[in-house]
Amino acid sequence: MTAPYLGNPKGTIEVLQKYDFVFQKKFGQNFLIDPHVLDKIVNAAGITKDDFVLEIGPGIGTMTQYLAAAAGKVFAVEIDKALIPILGDTLKDFPNVQVINEDILKVDIKKLAEEHNNGKPIKVVANLPYYITTPIIMGLFESGVPVDSITVMVQKEVAERMQVGPGTKDYGALSLAVQYYAEPYIVANVPPNCFMPRPKVGSAVIRLTRHEKPPVEVKDEKLMFRLIRASFNQRRKTLANGLNNSSELSFTKEEIQQTIEACGFPPGVRGEALTLEDFARLANRFAE
Ligand code: SAM
Repeated sequence: MTAPYLGNPKGTIEVLQKYDFVFQKKFGQNFLIDPHVLDKIVNAAGITKDDFVLEIGPGIGTMTQYLAAAAGKVFAVEIDKALIPILGDTLKDFPNVQVINEDILKVDIKKLAEEHNNGKPIKVVANLPYYITTPIIMGLFESGVPVDSITVMVQKEVAERMQVGPGTKDYGALSLAVQYYAEPYIVANVPPNCFMPRPKVGSAVIRLTRHEKPPVEVKDEKLMFRLIRASFNQRRKTLANGLNNSSELSFTKEEIQQTIEACGFPPGVRGEALTLEDFARLANRFAE
């Protein structure tokens, strides 16, 4: 895509200067300035004119322009009020975009999907503010928002944590939570020079395609996630000790030992060796 699209250093600098914009570090503001990366994100999200897209943190509207060109409707939520007049300018040629000045963590996204997309699944696309990546993604999954897919730029390490399985150092509660709800796929690694200002860390685009139905059957989801958290809170400890020391669980030492044994796990097993299926089995046994 060419002008009037913003996704290049020149277009971005022009807008920043026109409005004397001052970057707010606390909002994780690193704007994309590489058109190839922007194309990659929009293509990976598989957006069509039938789609309602929620963009979190539009910044100066760089990705919003690309999304608006591909989608039926784009709804963008930006926390920094200094960006609102800029967005009014950069998005004036895109009637299918609506911007609100709000903290995404305070928005009722389920209601938003009901009001603007008749409750049909929405696509979420964002170059996320890294300081709240996990609450945003888990919030979208856990609050029952109808979501088709989430395609987001995140810190490279976080993308890896979402995608890996047991036996790697990055495997943890986030991997299991994400994989319970969605199929993760890392689309691209993105170096710091694709942003203005440059972040200190590497980034990656990840697409999370929501499962129609979770890959495991769990009687008590909340219990499974309590077990997962307890297992990874103390990574170096055995599963039995992790569960025993958790303030979220109230099973006796004996119950824990018996349940681990009944699941067929070795007594000294660590949580980091268990798959999602294993955690589901464990939770179902405890639920009994
Ligand atoms: N989408 C733009 C781009 O790709 O160039 C900007 C991405 S920048 C990494 C993150 C954006 O999220 C910033 O515009 C920032 O102000 C906004 N943001 C930060 N925290 C937010 C929150 N809690 N709710 C909504 N927007 C937020």
